[in-house]
Amino acid sequence: MSLLVQKFGGTSVADAERMRLVADSIARNVRRGHQVVVAVSAMGKETDELLRLAAEVSRERPGREMDMLVTAGERKAMALLCMALHDLGVQADSFTGSQAGIVTDTDHTRARILEVRPERLREALDAGRVPVVGGAQGVSTDRDVTFLGRGGTDTTAVALAHALKADVCEIYTDVSGVFSADPRVVPEARRLDRVSFEEMLEMCAAGCPKPAMRSVELARTFGVALHVRSAFTWEPGTWIDEEDPEVEQAIVSAVVSDSSQAKLTVTGVPDRPGIAARLFRALAQRSINVDMIEQNVSIHGTTDISFTVPHDDLAAAEAVVAGLSDEIGATGAIADPEIATVSIVGAGMRTEPGVTAAMFETLAAEGINIEMISTSSIRLTCVVRAELAERAVQSLHRAFELEVA
Ligand code: ASP
Ligand code: MG
Repeated sequence: MSLLVQKFGGTSVADAERMRLVADSIARNVRRGHQVVVAVSAMGKETDELLRLAAEVSRERPGREMDMLVTAGERKAMALLCMALHDLGVQADSFTGSQAGIVTDTDHTRARILEVRPERLREALDAGRVPVVGGAQGVSTDRDVTFLGRGGTDTTAVALAHALKADVCEIYTDVSGVFSADPRVVPEARRLDRVSFEEMLEMCAAGCPKPAMRSVELARTFGVALHVRSAFTWEPGTWIDEEDPEVEQAIVSAVVSDSSQAKLTVTGVPDRPGIAARLFRALAQRSINVDMIEQNVSIHGTTDISFTVPHDDLAAAEAVVAGLSDEIGATGAIADPEIATVSIVGAGMRTEPGVTAAMFETLAAEGINIEMISTSSIRLTCVVRAELAERAVQSLHRAFELEVA
C-alpha cells in the first residue's frame, strides 16, 4: 500500500465529465489498496474569470478579498470532486487549505507556506477516506484565507506530500510530461523520462510554463520527487528528481523559449562606481523584476546598460529610467518589446566544452542575430528577435539531436 498525493490541474477537471473521469481514476487507486490525497485546482479558466470579475468591479482589489475570491474556485472544484467520488462509492471529504492545516504568511495573492499541520488529513486517511484539498490556498498567521499565487496547486501538492511523507507526488496536467521543446513548436519533441530538479528549475526560469517554478523549488528543498503526467492519457510521464550520480547527464536536455520579456537599454551612462547600483535599486523599489543584464566596455568613459524585464513592467521601468536620467547622466533609453529568449538547458554541459560554440553556430547558420547572452553552469540563453524565436528553437532542437531517444 502506498500513499499517493495527486494534483489535478484546471484542465483535468474542466467540466463534469472530466471531473468524473478524474474521480474514476482516484477510485481505481483506492480499490488497489492505495491511500490517496488529492490537491485540486479551479475548474478550467475559472481563476482567470474570477480575476477578470475583480478587475471589473474594483481598481483597488485588496489582497484579503482577492484571496477570498480566487480560492472560491478551488473550493467549488473540491466539493464537486468529492461528490463524484461518493457516486463511485469512495468516501471522500473536501478540505479548504485552512482545514487541511496549511499555514502561510500574510502576503496576500502570493502567500508562502510556513507550516503544514496534517492531523485532520491523517485522521481522514486513517478512517479510510480520501481527503480532497483545495489547491493554492492556506490560512495566514493572521487567520485570513490566503492564495499561494498562480500555479499554486502544484505547491500545495508538494507541501502535502512532504508533510504526509507520501510515497509519490503526481502532478496531473493536460500534457503528458516535460518535453525537450514545446511540442506545438517542435512536433518531434520528445517527452523526457527524467529531469533533475536543477534542470527543471532552469527550464522554468527560461520559460517552461509547467510545473510551477515555486513548487519545483519546494520539491527540491524537501527532496520530494515529482511525477508530471497526463490526466487525459494516464500514461507514465516525466520524473523530476535529484540528479542520479550513476547516470551520465545529457549535455542538452531541452530547448526553451520565452517571449514574456522586453529589453530596455540605457545609453551613454558614465562608467563609474554607483551608477548601476542606483539604477537597479530604483527598479527594485518599484518591484520590477530584472532578468538579464548586459553592460559593455566603455570607450570614452561611457557605456550602455541593457536589461530585460517582464512586458508588463516595461512602462514602469521606462518611467524609472526617465526619472533617473539626469542623476545618472544617461543620454537616452531605448525600449524594445520585440524580443524573445531562447535557451538550452542540460546538466551535462557543465563539463562539456563547445556547447556554446555549437549553439552560436546553429543560430548563425539560420541567419539569426544574437542580441544578448546569459549563462549559468547548465543553461545558455540568447536574446533574439521575437519573430525568429520559433525557428531558433526548431534549429537548436535539430542541431542537438534531441528528437533521438
Ligand atoms: N487555479 C489557480 C491558477 O490557475 C491555481 C492553480 O491552478 O494552481 O493559477
Ligand atoms: Mg490552473
